[in-house]
Amino acid sequence: MGANYAKVLLDDSGGRAFDYGVPEGLAAVVGSRVRVPVRMRTLLGTIIALSETTEADGVRMISELVGDEPALSPGLVALAQWMADYYCCPLEAAMKTVLPNVIRKAEVGHKVRLFARLAREVSDEELAELEKKAPKQSDVISVLREAGKAIAVAELCEQCGVAHQTVQTMAKKGWLVVEPETVERDPFGKEQFVSSGKLELNEEQRTVFARVAAAIDGSVDAKKPFLLHGVTGSGKTEIYLQGIDRALELGMGAILLVPEISLTPQTVERFKSRFAATNHEVAVLHSHLSEGERHDEWHRIRSGKARIVIGARSAIFAPVEKLGIIIVDEEHENTYKQEEMPRYHGRDLAVLRGHLEKCVVVLGSATPSLESAYNAHTGKYELLQLTMRVDDQKMPFIRIVDMRLEAKKSSPIISDPLAKAITSRLEKKEQVILFLNRRGFSTTLLCNKCGYVAECPNCSVSLTFHRAQNRIVCHMCGHLAVAPTKCPDCKDPGIKYSGTGTEKVEDTVQKFFPTAVVKRMDADVMQKKESYREALGAFRAGKIDILVGTQMIAKGLHFPNVTLVGIINADMGLHLPDFRASERTFQLLTQVAGRAGRGDVSGEVVVQSYTPFHPAIQFARHHDFTGFYEQEIEWREKMVQPPFTHFVLITVRSPHEERAKLSIETLHRRLKEVLPPGVTLGEPSPAPLEKSHGNFRFHLSLRSRAVLKLSRAIRSVLDKNPLPEDVFAVVDVDAHQLM
Ligand code: ADP
Ligand code: ZN
Repeated sequence: MGANYAKVLLDDSGGRAFDYGVPEGLAAVVGSRVRVPVRMRTLLGTIIALSETTEADGVRMISELVGDEPALSPGLVALAQWMADYYCCPLEAAMKTVLPNVIRKAEVGHKVRLFARLAREVSDEELAELEKKAPKQSDVISVLREAGKAIAVAELCEQCGVAHQTVQTMAKKGWLVVEPETVERDPFGKEQFVSSGKLELNEEQRTVFARVAAAIDGSVDAKKPFLLHGVTGSGKTEIYLQGIDRALELGMGAILLVPEISLTPQTVERFKSRFAATNHEVAVLHSHLSEGERHDEWHRIRSGKARIVIGARSAIFAPVEKLGIIIVDEEHENTYKQEEMPRYHGRDLAVLRGHLEKCVVVLGSATPSLESAYNAHTGKYELLQLTMRVDDQKMPFIRIVDMRLEAKKSSPIISDPLAKAITSRLEKKEQVILFLNRRGFSTTLLCNKCGYVAECPNCSVSLTFHRAQNRIVCHMCGHLAVAPTKCPDCKDPGIKYSGTGTEKVEDTVQKFFPTAVVKRMDADVMQKKESYREALGAFRAGKIDILVGTQMIAKGLHFPNVTLVGIINADMGLHLPDFRASERTFQLLTQVAGRAGRGDVSGEVVVQSYTPFHPAIQFARHHDFTGFYEQEIEWREKMVQPPFTHFVLITVRSPHEERAKLSIETLHRRLKEVLPPGVTLGEPSPAPLEKSHGNFRFHLSLRSRAVLKLSRAIRSVLDKNPLPEDVFAVVDVDAHQLM
């Protein structure tokens, strides 16, 4: 017997939900998409609850169900509700994250869409000719030529900035064929996957896997999340693969979250090839998918065709039914935290979804976050460990170079010990990675005479000199200017560039080693997906001797011939006003070091630092996670920082400094009146990054153990005290980004 009433959350209506009657025989359930009457119109919405009774007057009936099946499972609806409550955001925003617009739109329209392909081969001459007459049309042809396949017309228009009409005209002229298609776009469709079998687990892996398998089988009833702490190369991924396999055998599905940056073809291939043998399809979700691809992957998952999902943080919302296992690889990664509303943490939602859907959760890392390590310590999570590399290789030898002494002697970029190490590796035809987490050539443009520093007009940060383009660039907002040759203030020609970016490292290295092939890999040179793939391919094939890069090269890549990793400046992140600064530095050093020596030759890491005795550096040097954890957790407890409390950061911003300041002061007063006991409320203050994108920014910090109560209190204050025009407030629960 069906329920009488349904609470329907309307799309795009600021989170309003109303009760509607359920017509006799309508298979409405929580998660169903429906059309409902609102005044004179019919609107779309999602059922978020069912009930026998209602207190509302004049309840109208649901007009119809949309789609053959409910779009969301009750578990995902609950996840959205929890997310809105916890992260202090409107339910509608949370629902949009769980059920993105591209799915909402498509469920209404028809599934068949128009695709365009080239009607015939177009020669370069013809293209050049067309370019003169109709540059937009020639763009369309170039894009299609490059793609080598049909592209949805909507996407083509978006990509080339042309109107639908243009595509139709081109079809009439005989350039293109436009026809409806229902084919699925598989982003990796062109590639063939050779199936690869299971590996025989070593003893440590067997012990770990036994626990995970028992939990999946259901032979342990309380499903605590697992924290899998395993050094780099200890075979964590093999555990993931076999865990997923077990879930599939039992007819269940799996989600694997990986940081966006390590969602490389390499990772995907490893998974696809493993499951190719059993004909299980893998869906891949990441932020570079086109709308069409995202739509298709979602439906492949929803229909049960693909039971394995690999993706970046938002893949935690994948509509997998009967989840058997959720895995979060590199669970310590910052990129799991979404830095826009809803500001959720993918790892924390994984734990919650696991709890809601009673499925196994495995959080894996070589350098677990303090939060997760603490949860394992207190018994909230079960700790599993892999202490040895699979090939029994020693951990790389890490040498710390004291740059306070070296920089005077040699170059501030490449110290003598690093130069010697590089020389010896090059002689042996082995490869080198040099790491620096900062793009550009020089990081500051400084006048020695008057002290002028080139700053962004919109942001309170200095501009970075990019020599290749001869521009000074803001890394916050992208502001660009031609690099001056003399001081804009005092006109002195002695203007100097100081500080080091990857571009300068590349330049210096090439000068030091003129015969070596040096390649830089950072967001500046790798703007296209293909250039990233190409560079990695060339490096793997041994065509590059030295790879210089930012964190793009730090994570999850396997290069057996890399025997030396140089870290140009280990201190960079240490002195930020952020309680996680040490933790991040420790993690980064350990991760980067993990790139060295994965083949038959053992690896070496040279770390250049001006604070060589900093604990984060020393513990990383000795591969001592436990030592680091114990010291850091003691400090966090003393300072009452996470994981001993929840940290909530409110940012108020406005193009008008006074308005922002007044607003945060008012907010502070109002909060003070209503906050529950046990909350520590900070004083309002300018944010460390005082100005960004032309907005003045102020911070207010709150700490509390009971975060739900706190979130609700903040929400009620914000709801009751509307902000003045041009003032915006952002509430960040469990904030990671403290600038
Ligand atoms: P992690 O994810 O911990 O960094 P991986 O799972 O990537 O480690 O394993 C490192 C390498 O060891 C991979 O090339 C993998 O194929 C291999 N490997 C993992 N487990 C085994 C095993 N039991 N026997 C042989 N090789 C293994
Ligand atoms: Zn800027």
